[in-house]
Amino acid sequence: MKKVKELFNGKAKTVYSTEDKDKLILLFRNDTSAFDGEKIEQLDRKGMVNNRFNAFIMEKLSEAGVPTHHERILSDQESLVKCLEMLPIECVVRNIASGSLVRRLGIEDGLELNPPTFEFFLKNDELHDPMINDYHIISFNWASQDEIDKMKSLTFKVNKVLQKLFLDAGMLLVDYKLEFGRFNGQLYLGDEFTPDGCRLWDVETRKKLDKDRFRQGLGGVVEAYEEVAHRLGVELS
Ligand code: 5GP
Repeated sequence: MKKVKELFNGKAKTVYSTEDKDKLILLFRNDTSAFDGEKIEQLDRKGMVNNRFNAFIMEKLSEAGVPTHHERILSDQESLVKCLEMLPIECVVRNIASGSLVRRLGIEDGLELNPPTFEFFLKNDELHDPMINDYHIISFNWASQDEIDKMKSLTFKVNKVLQKLFLDAGMLLVDYKLEFGRFNGQLYLGDEFTPDGCRLWDVETRKKLDKDRFRQGLGGVVEAYEEVAHRLGVELS
């Protein structure tokens, strides 16, 4: 499958159309951004690591019964996916308090959340992805009630599968962000699952193994992503 036309150039990925109207190609670039694009750097190997890591996770989720857009890897930095009509919504599950939750509610960083909590955010860089609720989604027609229910149940199903996967490899899945879209009237998991969009801590030392290393200038960003991949048995080039 070949790239036909660039459709969208995001902060870390470029999306291309293909000869098949139902399929897109995602190019995972080395660009790494934080703070709504204010901090941007090129990190060698990151595109390849994230592409291969994402494929591994999407395949695990698909095996567990989560419908995903992922079709197959095409090259080191490219994957073929279904062409979803994306919802402008980010779904976040938190198992441990960190990041914006801590800043917003004054919660202690590292506090275990039992049960885990769920939040919706509007995908809008200019507005800095504000938090929204179910009523906003319905009032502004961003998704139906049925889709809201599905986003919640699928995001928690992902939690069940991935918490265990990461814990078995010595890591805590602190939180993560998912995005969904429509294809033939059904809801599918879209976008990506990589250390760019989740928090992962070493279970013993609580060392950060995710994009917080970039956000907080801790260094060793790609090395940490490669360590996560290595612990899970993801094959890298
Ligand atoms: P927080 O709300 O604490 O900033 O983020 C919660 C989780 O969702 C973190 O794992 C974070 O990486 C992820 N997340 C939230 N918004 C975004 C986003 O716009 N882009 C990416 N890559 N990840 C996000």
